[in-house]
Amino acid sequence: MPHANTTASRPPLVHLKLSGDALGAARQRMTSLPRLNIDRNVVLDVEKLANGTFSPLTGFMGSADYRSVLDEVRLANGTPWSIPVILQFHAAAGITVGTEVLLWNEAEAAPSALLQVSEVFGIDLLEQARKVYGTEDQAHPGVKRMISLGAVCLAGAIALLGHSKSLIPAAYDKDPSEVRAEIDRRGWRTVTGFQTRNLGHKAHEHLQKIGLELTDGLLIHPLIGWKKAGDMLPEVILDGYEILIEHYYPRDKVMLAGLTTAMRYAGPREALFHSIIRRNFGCTHFIVGRDHAGVGNYYEKYAGHRIFDRFSAAELGITPLRLHGPCYCSRCDEIVTEQICPHGPDAWRDISGTEVRAMIARGEEPPASIMRPEIARFLIARGRSGAVFFEE
Ligand SMILES: [Zn+2]
Repeated sequence: MPHANTTASRPPLVHLKLSGDALGAARQRMTSLPRLNIDRNVVLDVEKLANGTFSPLTGFMGSADYRSVLDEVRLANGTPWSIPVILQFHAAAGITVGTEVLLWNEAEAAPSALLQVSEVFGIDLLEQARKVYGTEDQAHPGVKRMISLGAVCLAGAIALLGHSKSLIPAAYDKDPSEVRAEIDRRGWRTVTGFQTRNLGHKAHEHLQKIGLELTDGLLIHPLIGWKKAGDMLPEVILDGYEILIEHYYPRDKVMLAGLTTAMRYAGPREALFHSIIRRNFGCTHFIVGRDHAGVGNYYEKYAGHRIFDRFSAAELGITPLRLHGPCYCSRCDEIVTEQICPHGPDAWRDISGTEVRAMIARGEEPPASIMRPEIARFLIARGRSGAVFFEE
């Protein structure tokens, strides 16, 4: 291990939720404030700022932090940070520094948060596309979404007024402080975090169990944002993991919770972002696999490993576990990686979500070589009785 991060060396968490008298006063005041609509993904960003998921951020970034993140992959004070957390609009007429603004959850017609505007600044969307996503191509889903939000940014501290309706059951929708408390209750000194957007298959199980060999506990932490067609439904991912854990994991060494935030598909920068988030949830180690947070062929498959070379585990507060992408090898007849198997691509079969999806659609059980039979049967049963994948 290059650095021994433990749960004893956690950074403090930001907390920006109003309660009691302060909440009552804010709710009185909000009716007279300028109101700006934000979409569902931005609502999630607001909530993640408020519950400390994005600690040490205390609001939407100003231009100094923004520039520094683009150019240095650090906040202006030097703290490692890779993804801009900015509040974008197409225009902000009449909004000036010092204005208090109500951020309005448009989809639910409900108040989200107050923003104390500390700066209004313009950004170069294509520069951000290049520097954060590595491409200006608007066929890239992260670039497309980022550009669609507009080039005028409002910075400032936020104060949360209320939560949106959760995307996942309450039992899995845990704040960082709650996950840290559960880790402490279990007495884990070291914890591996695992990012996923899919149901557990044998390649992911391979990675997770390497983590579990190295640390006291494992946090399986599926990222669940607003879905696009073809994404697996959150309840399928979570229910499937419960089955997997019940049959194949030591129950007292594994926690399952959801992280509700948008995928950025920013590849290596998002791998770093995901690790910082898991540090905030109490993890000491984080698995970075092949093409982490990638999409299409925009990123070199181990770019997500290399970005961590620029930072020490001590300054990140979390140790990356750089693992190779597992696949099924027909000659070894087990899950392997290019690090441990000599047989090469002819014998290797990647386990892709697309392939699993096609099998489920045909009512075909994914083979035991790539998926545990309990999960395969669960998926088939779900497919018969309802939806497995999100459809628009
Ligand atoms: Zn092999």
